[in-house]
Amino acid sequence: MKLKSLKSVKNIKGKTILLRVAYDVPLKKSGQTVKVADDRRIRETVPTINYLLKNNCKIALLTWVGRPDGKVVSGLSTKPIAKALAKILKRPVGFVDDCVGPKVTKTISRLKPKQLLMLENVRFYPEEEADDQMFAALLVEGYDMIVFDAFAQSHRVHASTTSITKLLPAYSGLLLEKELKALDGIVKQPKRPLMVILGGAKLSDKVVVLEELLKKADKVLIGGGIANVFFKALKVEIGSSFVQSSFVDKAKRKNVDYVALAKKLYSQYRNKIVLPVDLISASKMAAGAKTRIIDLENGENISKNEMFLDIGPKTVELFKKEIKKAKTIFWNGPMGVFEIKEFTSGTKALASALVKSSAKTVIGGGDTETVVALYKLEGKFNHVSTGGGASLEYLSGKKLPALKNIQS
Ligand code: AMP
Repeated sequence: MKLKSLKSVKNIKGKTILLRVAYDVPLKKSGQTVKVADDRRIRETVPTINYLLKNNCKIALLTWVGRPDGKVVSGLSTKPIAKALAKILKRPVGFVDDCVGPKVTKTISRLKPKQLLMLENVRFYPEEEADDQMFAALLVEGYDMIVFDAFAQSHRVHASTTSITKLLPAYSGLLLEKELKALDGIVKQPKRPLMVILGGAKLSDKVVVLEELLKKADKVLIGGGIANVFFKALKVEIGSSFVQSSFVDKAKRKNVDYVALAKKLYSQYRNKIVLPVDLISASKMAAGAKTRIIDLENGENISKNEMFLDIGPKTVELFKKEIKKAKTIFWNGPMGVFEIKEFTSGTKALASALVKSSAKTVIGGGDTETVVALYKLEGKFNHVSTGGGASLEYLSGKKLPALKNIQS
C-alpha cells in the first residue's frame, strides 16, 4: 500500500502538527506514582518525532491508552507517558490535561518551534469511540496538518483514527511506513518457503488471518490453545485443556463452529499444517504445578483433569527443523502459557530458534511483543510489530480504516 509520506511534504518547516501516535503502553503503579512499564511503542516513534523536530515543527501528540470507557480514569492519564517520552528524547515534553477545547487551543497557539506537548487520553471522551464528527472537528482545531503514526490503533473506526484525517491534510509517519513494509514482505512476493507460526489462546482473534495465510504460506506451525481446536477436530483427547470450540459472532448473528472449521482446514491443507506431536500437561495452570510430557506419537493420552499448557521437547525439535528450511517467517502467539515458568520453555525455545534462523523474521504484536521483551530478544528479529490486532487485520487482507485518507 502506498501512503502519503510525511517526507513528501514540501512546506513542513515550522508547521503545527497533530501527531497521532499509539502509545497504548502498559502502565504500572508504584506507590502514588504511575510509570510506563514498557516504553517500546514510544521509542518506535522517535524517528518521526526527530524528523519533525529537524523541521522546526510544533508538535502535539495524541493517543488513547487502555479502556477508560469515555470517563476520566486517573490511572490511564498520558501524563506519565509525557515523562517517559521526555526521558527518551532528552528534551522537555509539556502536558495538558485535555485533548480538545480552549485550554488546548491556547496552549498549542503558544507552542514554539521544536516544542512538544502531550495531550490527555482521547478515550476519556465517549465521543472518541462513537466516532463523533463534531468531536473530530474539535480534535483538529489549531493545527496545520496531521501526521498519523498510530499503526497499532489504525484498525479501529474512532474519531481520532478515521475522522480527523478527513478534516486536515494528513500524512503517514515513519513507524506506520515501516510496519506496512514489513507486513507487505510477508504477503506480497515473500522469499519462499514462507512459514507462519500461530499460537495463543483464542482462535476467534486469528481465524481470518489463519485462513488467509494458509492460502499463501508453505508451512503453518500451530501451537498454544489454538492447537487444541485442531486436536478436538482430529479426535485427539485434550482433557480439560482450554479450547475455543465455537464463537458467537454478534455482528453477523451467527454461531461459528471452530471445531468443524478446523476439520475442514486440516483436510484442505494437511500438507501445510504442522501440529504438536508432544505436549506439556498439568492439572493446574499455576506456578509450581506438577508437569508431565504427553507424547501423542507414542499413543500417550492426557487424563480428564489435565490440560495441555505448552508444546513438548519433540515438538520443539520438529518446529526447529521446519524453521531451518524457511526463508520468511511470521510468528504470532505463544506456544503455551508462557507467563508461568513451568509452561514457558516451548515458547522460549521457539523464540531462540527464530533468532538463530537466517530467514527474515516478522513478529506480530500483542502477546508476542511481550514474549520478545520477556526473553530480552529485542532487536534480534527483522521486525517486531507494535500492533497485534492491526497487524493480523492487515495480513488478513482487510483494509485498515484509518489509512483510507492517507493513501497516495
Ligand atoms: P493471544 O493473545 O491470543 O496470543 O493469547 C495469548 C495467551 O494465550 C497467553 O496469555 C497464553 O498464556 C495463552 N495460552 C497459550 N497457550 C495456551 C494453552 N495451551 N492453554 C491456555 N492458554 C494458552
